[in-house]
Order: sequence, then C-alpha cells, then structure tokens
Amino acid sequence: MDYSTIVDIFNEMEATSKRTELTDLIVRLLKSTPKELIDKVVYLMLGRLRPEYEGIELGIADKMALRALSISSGIDMKRVEEMYVRRGDIGEAAEEALSKRLQAVLFKDRLTVERVYSTLEKVAMLKGEGSQDAKIRYICNLLNDAEPREGKYILKIVTGRLRLGIADYTLLDALAVAFTDSKENRSILERAYNLTSDLGFVAKMLVYGGLDAVKAIRMELFRPIRPMLAERVSSAEEALERMGGRCAAEYKLDGERLQIHKHDGRVKIFSRRLEDITSHYPDAVDAIAGIRARDLIVEGEAVAINQDTQEYLPFQELMHRRRKYGIEEAMKEYPIALNLFDILYIDGKECIDLPYMERRRILENLISGVESSNSSNSINSSIVSIVPMLIVSDAKSIEDYMFKAINEGCEGLMIKDLNSPYRAGARGYAWIKLKREYKSELADTLDLVIVGAFHGRGRRAGRYGALLLASYNREDDTFYTTCKVGTGFTDEDLERFHAMLNPYIIKHRHARVNSRLDADVWFEPRMVIEVIASEITLSPLHTCALNVIREGNGLALRFPKFTGRIRDDKSAEDATSVDEIVSMYRRQLKVIRQTQTGIEEDVGREGE
Ligand code: ATP
Repeated sequence: MDYSTIVDIFNEMEATSKRTELTDLIVRLLKSTPKELIDKVVYLMLGRLRPEYEGIELGIADKMALRALSISSGIDMKRVEEMYVRRGDIGEAAEEALSKRLQAVLFKDRLTVERVYSTLEKVAMLKGEGSQDAKIRYICNLLNDAEPREGKYILKIVTGRLRLGIADYTLLDALAVAFTDSKENRSILERAYNLTSDLGFVAKMLVYGGLDAVKAIRMELFRPIRPMLAERVSSAEEALERMGGRCAAEYKLDGERLQIHKHDGRVKIFSRRLEDITSHYPDAVDAIAGIRARDLIVEGEAVAINQDTQEYLPFQELMHRRRKYGIEEAMKEYPIALNLFDILYIDGKECIDLPYMERRRILENLISGVESSNSSNSINSSIVSIVPMLIVSDAKSIEDYMFKAINEGCEGLMIKDLNSPYRAGARGYAWIKLKREYKSELADTLDLVIVGAFHGRGRRAGRYGALLLASYNREDDTFYTTCKVGTGFTDEDLERFHAMLNPYIIKHRHARVNSRLDADVWFEPRMVIEVIASEITLSPLHTCALNVIREGNGLALRFPKFTGRIRDDKSAEDATSVDEIVSMYRRQLKVIRQTQTGIEEDVGREGE
C-alpha cells in the first residue's frame, strides 16, 4: 500500500471540523487498506505502533527529529529550527524543508506503509548507547525517499504529534460500517474490544474471519480488560431501589485501581487507563506472585497506608510511586495495602460472566489461602486483602456502613448488584458509587477535558488565564463545553499547564468539540482535570446538554475551581459525561424546589 494513500487521508482528517466527515474518512481509509495491513493502519491512525497497553513509544525528541530533517534536506540545523519556530508545527516544518531540499534526489524508492511501519518499529525498539545515531539514520532513510507531504506525517508520527483525535469508539463505528453490513454490529466489535483493549487485533479478526471470528474472541492473560465503571446516585435509598432492595456495599477506597495479571511467577499490573504500571508496585507484584493460583486476573485498589497505624492515607501519597528510579526506597517510605475487589479469571476459568456473589466467593477463598500462608510466613502477601463488604437490604444499614467507611478514611461506598456479571468497559447501575454528600451543593468533583484556552492578562500574561472545559457525550462521540475555569491554579500550575498543553495545540476547534465560545487557543481533547463547583446552572453560552433542560440553554458549572488534581489516569473519553451532568443538575435540591414553586432564576446566570 502506498504510504501516500494514508497521508492524503490524514491530511483531510486534520482539515475537517465535522465529526461525520471524520468518520467517513476513516471508513474510506479502512476500505482502501489491504487485509494484511489493517492492524498497522489502525494503530497508525491512532498515532501508535501497537496497542497502548504494550507501552511502545516512539517519543523521538523534537531536536533529534529536526536533526534528521536537516541531514535529509541538506538545510542547516539553524534554518530548520527557524522553520519549526515559525510554523509552530514539526510536520509543517518538515514539509517546508523537504520542498526546499538542496540536493535533488534522483532515484527515490517508493514509500510503502509496510516500509514506513517496519522502519518506525525499528526506531521504537532501539535502546541504549549509540541508539540515537541509529534512530536518526532510520528516520533519514525514510525522509530521503519522502515527498514533502509524506515527510510531514513521518515527523508527526515519530515525535508523537499525530493528532487526528480519533476516539476508540469512532473507530469501532467506522469498522462496523466498512466491513459489516450495518453500524448495528458495532456492539459485537465493542465486546471484543472491551475484552482485549486492542483495536488492531479486533480489526484483523474482522477482516479475516468476519463477525463470527470477532464473536469468538475471549479474554487473555496479559492483555488488559477494559474496566467496569460505576454510576452515581444521591442517596442510600436511591441506590437500594436501583438494586431491587438487596445489594452488596463495599468500602470505596481512595487509591489507584490496579488490574493484575499473573501466570506462574510472572505478574503484570495495568492502570485504570490500561497502561503497564508494573514497575510502580514491586510489593504488589511480589504479593500476587506468591498467591497459589497459577493463572489469575484480579482487580483491586492500591491505597497508601500509615504503616504504624495501618490507616488509609489520601490518594496523593501514591504519587511517590510514579517514578522511574528509586522505587525501592519509595516502596519502603510509602507502603501500600492492596484491597482486591474483583476476580476476572482463575486457572483456566473465566469469571466475568459469573454473578457478583460467586466472584466474591472465589476471591474470598483465594484470599483466605493467602492469609493462612501468611501465618506460616511462607510468602510476603500480607499487603493483600479483600475489600470489606456487607450485604445490605435497608437504607439505614447502608448509611451506617458508609459512616464507618468514611471514618476509616474511605471516600464512601461502592454499591454492587449481587447478580451482575463483570461488564467490561461499561458504566452502569450494576455498580453505584455513593460518596459522602451528593445532596444539595455539588459535593462531588467533575473530571473535565481541556478543549481550549484564553490568554492571560496582567499577572498571567504569557500564560493561560482560563481553560475551556468540556464533558463527553458518548452517543455522538463529541465534547460539549461546560465551563471556563481560571481559579484554583497556583503559579506553578500555570507554568506547568502551558507546557503540558503545548503538544496538543491545534489550529482550529477540534472536529469532536462542540462550543459556542471562541477560544484563543484550541487543543486536541486529551487532558483531563478535576474541578469542583458550587452548582450547575443553565447557561446560553455552553453546549453541554444544550436544549435538554431548556431551549437555547446548556448546563454550566457555577464557580468552578481546579482541585489541583490532573486526571492522567483518565482518557478524554472517560471524562464526566453530559448525561451525568444532567442527572447531577436534576438532583440539586434547589432545582426541585424551583420546579415546585415555578421560580426559574437560573437563566442568564453565567456559570463560567
Ligand atoms: P470512574 O468511575 O470513571 O472509574 P472516578 O475516579 O471518577 O472514575 P470514582 O468516583 O473514583 O470514579 O469511582 C470509581 C473508582 O473507585 C474505581 O475505578 C476504583 O478505582 C475505585 N474503587 C475503590 N474501591 C472500590 C471498590 N470496592 N470497587 C470498585 N472500585 C473501587
């Protein structure tokens, strides 16, 4: 397949600001891809070489990429750097430099997708001493044979700057349209994706074996399963009602979610975003390796603890584990407890379709084994336990248990349906999170995506004065704005945000962003931050749930404030959804009162 075929479509994808057009372009590209390349083209569209969980990063520094560009074009480094600064985009700098190439290349070899992909694979694999020069050589080798517009996308990909902003769910839609007779079949593809977290693999099974092959896909060890997620409600009564009067109440710990895979002594740990974070938790690896099951997939929450008192500590304490070096010291200084709450696989047996109670029983048996082997000190599994749980059938018991959990340092409770299977990748009412207060004021935080920014003035000159935040609507795969936030940032945060957002800058509003406000700078929807607000109000300026509550109005946050927490464990599509904001709005007591009295004072009060 000619590399220029995908380059031309990438170009069109970048230019469009219409979501339907983006999907059509993906379909066109998928249809023009030969079977044997389908997985590779899928990964390239997502700006990667392999599924995300494999952690294979090209991540070439700009400097190194520009060096290759300078060598290949014959234009000196200083001028190439100037082009980069002027154009503000490494791809465009490449296009310009290659079109002004000093040495005419007489015999060019054709660039194919196969060749580009395999060269990039080599670049990604090179490690250690001397690897920098070799990487530059490989990149030059491609650039030498590249047309300027082809070079543009080579440099974008190697520097991790290919920003087509294609969501996994858009790709699933496009795959269904391209290779099955109906978009309806997306649910079959989605099931396979939820079990494997690998879109390239699903696409390959589809083109070679059709829908039957996709239906036959099963979970596998060391391939992360997309996590089951919870909905929220405002009261114990409501939770109980949703659960049909009887349910399990588990402690909701405030730590990091881990999905742990084990085969014999080999252990791998995946984060909530399915990144491989095994190296952050050598103690958890040891503990799980010592468990007697040969094959295992379990989920749990790692929580920092005070070793003397065994009390749970806040989530922030776990941040010390996110480091490359000195992890052994961090492990001693910031010990954790690992509280398992689910089991997905054990010794050849899939557990995800079993009801909750049965999974819990299997987990209890497993952990009681761990506890008895602790007493003989045969393994160091003392950090592993099972999350505390109580079967409840009245609201009072839920509230009492919640009080106990909060007193012990938890965020609240997770209420779970006793009969529900583990629904990979789904957010639903089979799990409900019940936090301290969901009542009148907005006690809960929201996780919103940064889609734009406004230049700062005065003290904030040269940095962003406010960020434009959006919620996500999965139905149409679009981000809808819900507030401008400018408070809660320290000076350090302001510096940091400017730098962190830099790689995501795009020239126009992203095709998947719906906004009535015109930001000074637009970003690819990537970064998620946590905000708190005093309430949700109707607003004619924001597009979140536009026309849902009142014609011409959306829902906005009033007095939003950054909590200081960047949710890098969440992808943009994991942000608080438009539906969640609508239900939070409906829950506000104030709104109920207004509906009763007919007073509607919210209109026109801007929630920026
Ligand atoms: P999301 O609901 O999207 O995962 P979130 O961080 O906004 O993200 P939370 O309010 O933190 O949602 O609730 C869900 C998270 O709670 C889980 O992903 C998990 O990390 C954590 N958790 C703590 N205790 C439990 C438990 N007993 N069962 C399941 N999850 C738990």
